[in-house]
Amino acid sequence: MKRVVFTDLDGTLLDRFTYSYEKSLEAIKLLQVKGVPIIFCSAKTKAEQEEYRRELGIGDPFIVENGGAVFLPQDYFALPISGASSIPGYFVIELGLAYEEVRKVLKNVEREQGIFIRGFGDMSAEEVSQKTRLSPRCAVLASQRAYDEPFYLEGDSDQVKQVLDNIEKAGLRWTPVGSHYSTVGHTDKGKAIKILLELFKREFGEVETIGVGDSQNDLSMLASVDVPVLVQSAADEWVAGIDLAGIYKVNGIGPEGWSKAIKELFGDL
Ligand code: MG
Repeated sequence: MKRVVFTDLDGTLLDRFTYSYEKSLEAIKLLQVKGVPIIFCSAKTKAEQEEYRRELGIGDPFIVENGGAVFLPQDYFALPISGASSIPGYFVIELGLAYEEVRKVLKNVEREQGIFIRGFGDMSAEEVSQKTRLSPRCAVLASQRAYDEPFYLEGDSDQVKQVLDNIEKAGLRWTPVGSHYSTVGHTDKGKAIKILLELFKREFGEVETIGVGDSQNDLSMLASVDVPVLVQSAADEWVAGIDLAGIYKVNGIGPEGWSKAIKELFGDL
């Protein structure tokens, strides 16, 4: 049976603070040697994910911006793909509302409520770098958004709740991401996974899916896979609110937990 790993990046395969994959490398190799697809399923943009794919030698499909779109390398599946557009190197299945539309909704909510919503689209790459600890170069790549907008809110808890309620009423989905939030329209990681999974099944028959995440924006991903794995977000701590039946809460923060779970599930080299 074909086994496929879907994985979050920030705080899961990558260290939450340094964005390093050093501690995941051995387990990534293990999957590569065994021919197991590694599907990035992250809030990161196409430009950011392409960097990691290049560095790690990963050539599998990937899901960008919290389910905004699925990118399929053009020679990956033998069977034709319907509903996808073609760009150099990839077929793309777009699921999210366009970034400009998402920004418009945020600006409307901001105007109505009189509370400043500061999104990546309002910031210079330098400010994104300061706020996220991304390197200046990576912050430029993180600013190249097409679907999902990370944003910061100021205000008391009632005001914040109201802003988030109104974003939801306008038809967008939001999730907390550490000190900020992220919003995307009409999609989530789970929706993107279901579409990709159908393509894998069509190509390979029976497929077993493993999903690894660390935070609330991974809930829809973890709910869509056969084997959901949650890594620790801090020492002896797993994020609250992800109580799926059969979830494996692995001992290990971020990439340490990622490696441990992968080695347990896939054995040795
Ligand atoms: Mg994460």
